[in-house]
Amino acid sequence: DTGPWVAAVGAPIWLAGDLWGCVAALTRDADSLTHAAEARVGRFAELVSLAIANAQNRQKIADLAMHDALTGLPNRRAFEDAMERALALAARTGNPLSLAIMDIDHFKRVNDDHGHDVGDQVLSGVSQRLASVARTEEPVARLGGEEFAWILPNTTALQALVAAERARAAVATTPFTTVGHVTVSIGIADLDAAGSGDALFRMADQALYAAKAEGRNRCHVARTPSPVG
Ligand code: GH3
Ligand code: MG
Ligand code: MG
Repeated sequence: DTGPWVAAVGAPIWLAGDLWGCVAALTRDADSLTHAAEARVGRFAELVSLAIANAQNRQKIADLAMHDALTGLPNRRAFEDAMERALALAARTGNPLSLAIMDIDHFKRVNDDHGHDVGDQVLSGVSQRLASVARTEEPVARLGGEEFAWILPNTTALQALVAAERARAAVATTPFTTVGHVTVSIGIADLDAAGSGDALFRMADQALYAAKAEGRNRCHVARTPSPVG
């Protein structure tokens, strides 16, 4: 039958008090629409609402599991996932990949001198400044404590040094309220020098320790191991 639609029943889909949409049933036969059909469409709209709320909650929980509660940055788990993707991309394209590991300098003093709550505020502030210099496709993650990691796809160690220098300056230049100037040290390595994901992390971490040893508030690029023989 291709005659005109002659009757319809509809019901709103409510989601947390807001009108999200509606479900409607149309018919070409006016007699076929009973009160039972109307009630059923209403019940169906409620089920749709539940299904949407369910899907949204699931997404929210997944997001929470991948983010750090204090800073809102991706957490260590998210970092590990992102690293796996970045390594796969580098292997596929042959493009460079760099990793920067960043650690707040003398952060224990901030806690000792001003208390843990102020320490938390500084930690959030530093996180924001670090994240602000990173592109969305190059997120900064909080590895734990006052340590962060920055994955830089398609970036050589030298290019990463330029980016890391921006991050270092973003933290160091402007003093924080209450505590004054805070600095970070940054260790950088690239996949070309490291050869594997594990070695990349190790080398960036070693470079971080070198930056600390050299006096902090600086970036250090891991030395390429000299070829054997
Ligand atoms: P360095 O320059 O060598 O990195 O010195 P540091 O004092 O920053 O390093 P250390 O590892 O000795 O101390 C890190 C401090 O960070 C100790 C710990 O209490 C503090 N910290 C770690 N996580 C948090 C946090 O979530 N909130 C606050 N307020 N402090 C934290
Ligand atoms: Mg530290
Ligand atoms: Mg640390």
